[in-house]
Amino acid sequence: MQTAIDMSSTTQYYLELEDQYSAHNYHPLPVVLTKGKGVHVWDVDGKQYYDFLSGYSAVNQGHCHPVIVQSFIEQSQKLTLTSRAFHSDLLGEYAKYITDYFGYDKVLPMNTGVEAVETGIKLCRKWGYEVKGIEEGKAVIIVCEGNFHGRTSTIISFSSDPSAKKNFGPYMPGFVSIPYNDTNALANALNDKNVAGFLVEPIQGEAGVLVPDDGYLATAKQLCAAANVLFIADEIQTGLARTGKMLACDHENVRPDILLLGKALSGGMLPVSAVLCDDEIMMTIKPGEHGSTYGGNPLACKVAMTALQVLKDEKMEANAGRMGELLRNELTSLQSKHIAVVRGKGLLNAIIIEHYNKDAAWDLCLALKENGLLAKPTHGDKIRFAPPLIINKQQIVDCIKIIQESLKQLD
Ligand SMILES: *Cc1c(COP(=O)(O)O)cnc(C)c1O
Repeated sequence: MQTAIDMSSTTQYYLELEDQYSAHNYHPLPVVLTKGKGVHVWDVDGKQYYDFLSGYSAVNQGHCHPVIVQSFIEQSQKLTLTSRAFHSDLLGEYAKYITDYFGYDKVLPMNTGVEAVETGIKLCRKWGYEVKGIEEGKAVIIVCEGNFHGRTSTIISFSSDPSAKKNFGPYMPGFVSIPYNDTNALANALNDKNVAGFLVEPIQGEAGVLVPDDGYLATAKQLCAAANVLFIADEIQTGLARTGKMLACDHENVRPDILLLGKALSGGMLPVSAVLCDDEIMMTIKPGEHGSTYGGNPLACKVAMTALQVLKDEKMEANAGRMGELLRNELTSLQSKHIAVVRGKGLLNAIIIEHYNKDAAWDLCLALKENGLLAKPTHGDKIRFAPPLIINKQQIVDCIKIIQESLKQLD
């Protein structure tokens, strides 16, 4: 089956420009966007779409949220960067705000998500040597198969995705990989006294929205606590109201020892990430031992405070919970022979496509695009459905119609 792609010369122009001058490290859908507002984006021909990716959950608050934009504009006209060589009047305010918000002693501000993960790993190792007493150079961090934690050379070292790793070696040692959603495997791996941490996604997003069994996170946290091992939650994609709670760990009342945030922390305005933990861990890092020129800059601090406040003011957790349930129910009641599985939590969802054609998920995404909805396949046969958290009931119903119509193209 071939889906015909109707492409304007304007779209063609931008695709060719990127193709010629930008590295080919992504394989995007052939759509060129120029505007976004709320749950919608528009292409260069003026066609409107529902955004069902939300920048991989970076725009939970919706595109160009007016309150966050205003905050961005005001701060960007005042002061944007001091470096950490000097203080700004916003870092302290932000640190107090975000540590109160999530209930930790301290925050270490970074920029991209992968930097938060790197920082979490460095903190965990330092704590392992200086507090737990592991012999220097021997610390082990347990990770899960199918993980996605970013793209630096340390982090791809423990990826199980061959395309993320091949010919990027030699790899960073000190990581042990166990099956996800398997507390027996974790208990076994924890027998090694050199283990300092367990790094886990509460739901594996990139792997295709793999939701572990109820109780997995709570049991994993208990096992880690009993072994004096830090439970490190990568909530970069699952956090910030996406799954119907402020953190996905909140569903099981689990408090991570190290919490990693990114993506929606700025509502899609600029890269802002954060590592939160208590003093016993955070105070192992001394001046000069870690940092970043842009980390904790005044613009990021201001925008992050506003982005977090907007999540609360607009009760986005509750809406994500309700709309997610509606979306999954509606998808299930389509009873499409092409949808093998509907799964997810809150507004982090995926469907698995069942079709003899291995490109069916990509073809469905092209059909969805034609009909006004943007989504992207992951791992071949899975499609993530993760709209901004401000989506309403009428819009969900509208989107279900688009999905139903588009599925016909796979018949
Ligand atoms: C996106 C993501 C990252 C990496 O964030 P970047 O900002 O792309 O570096 C890390 N962990 C998870 C779970 C993610 O979804």
